[in-house]
Amino acid sequence: MPDLSNSPLSTPPVPAGKRSLAGLDRAGLGAALAAIGVPDQQLKMRTGQLWSWIYVRGATAFEAMSDVSKDLRARLAQVYSLERPAIVREQVSQDGTVKWLLRLARRGHEARQPEIETVYIPEVDRGTLCISSQIGCTLTCSFCHTGTQRLVRNLEVAEIVGQVLLARDRIGDWPGDRLASAQETSARSADERKITNVVLMGMGEPLYNFDNVRDAMAIVSDGDGLAMSKRRITLSTSGVVPEIARWGEQAGTMLAISLHAVRNELRDKLVPINRKYPIADLMAACRTYPGLSNARRITFEYVMLKDVNDSLADAKALVKLLAGIPAKINLIPFNPWPGSAHACSDWEQIERFAEIVNRAGYASPVRTPRGRDIMAACGQLRSESLNLSARERKVAIS
Ligand code: SAH
Ligand code: SF4
Repeated sequence: MPDLSNSPLSTPPVPAGKRSLAGLDRAGLGAALAAIGVPDQQLKMRTGQLWSWIYVRGATAFEAMSDVSKDLRARLAQVYSLERPAIVREQVSQDGTVKWLLRLARRGHEARQPEIETVYIPEVDRGTLCISSQIGCTLTCSFCHTGTQRLVRNLEVAEIVGQVLLARDRIGDWPGDRLASAQETSARSADERKITNVVLMGMGEPLYNFDNVRDAMAIVSDGDGLAMSKRRITLSTSGVVPEIARWGEQAGTMLAISLHAVRNELRDKLVPINRKYPIADLMAACRTYPGLSNARRITFEYVMLKDVNDSLADAKALVKLLAGIPAKINLIPFNPWPGSAHACSDWEQIERFAEIVNRAGYASPVRTPRGRDIMAACGQLRSESLNLSARERKVAIS
């Protein structure tokens, strides 16, 4: 269970209008410094200092930056902030999963401040942060709650990176926090990270926000900063075929495919983007994904929908379809949400299905649902109207 007890719920209030530097890349930081009069010959050094305070140490205030002159710290604080997305609500599940509802700044003509969700899933040997790439989604997969919310807009680079910064703040995952907690409890070594993996499996279709997601992942994986290995970052796509190779070339993270059906006729209904990019095209893009090997497999996600895609014939067809692709298969028990038309397959059926997949050489494929009691599990994210009634909550955890 993350220790969320001793830090205040939201970052200190910042006078409106100050632009946050948290989440910017080096060029953005350099431009911000130049704009307040830092001379050209100092820009590289000052940018390096800011970068390191923001991304290595997790500074949330300019005053903390002890190697930056007092005068420059004051000028920075006058004009800028290091604010993260604002927390509207933080919920901790019985299983330790944490979900944040975050409020972002209004852009353009937006009537109100948009909201997104980010989820942290602690496990024994790893901690996974599930981040959003869009506010809502243009696609309408039949089993997905996010798909019922229309697209508001793409997230900006800083809003994507900001989710990682905020999660590290809240669960105490900066080196200073870890050192303090290791000294207190001697339970966890100071260099053992809590967030070990990042998955782009929150709200939105990340390949429809290609440039921003790519640039954000470049910041998150920068070895001199947050330093998440690209092998521990996974982008999940519903199958935007023309962007898959480009993602591999330009971003080089791990890839997950939301497959969910092995026949076009059914996948057309469950994952409507299939009408544009059918299964054969999707498989061809997977076979040629840059860097694919037995050590870098593609994960195929398959949501278990009762009497829809869970027959043993489907399991056999799935194994056949993936033959020859270095693959992992993730069977995801369907997570219900209020008003959803589907039901989760019976447990015995999931086991029978898994056995066929197992026998074909794919290990431990069933993904245990996490955070269902706070609607934080796969496909339950939707940032509007989350004031669920007690009855709806029961549906979510039954
Ligand atoms: N848009 C991207 C990433 C976000 S969805 C994509 O579709 O891949 C992350 C994963 O959760 C996808 O595999 C998605 O199909 C799955 N998912 C969506 N709704 C779900 C639900 N109600 N139960 C279980 N998994 C779900
Ligand atoms: Fe969008 Fe992914 Fe949900 Fe489909 S499953 S509606 S692509 S978020």
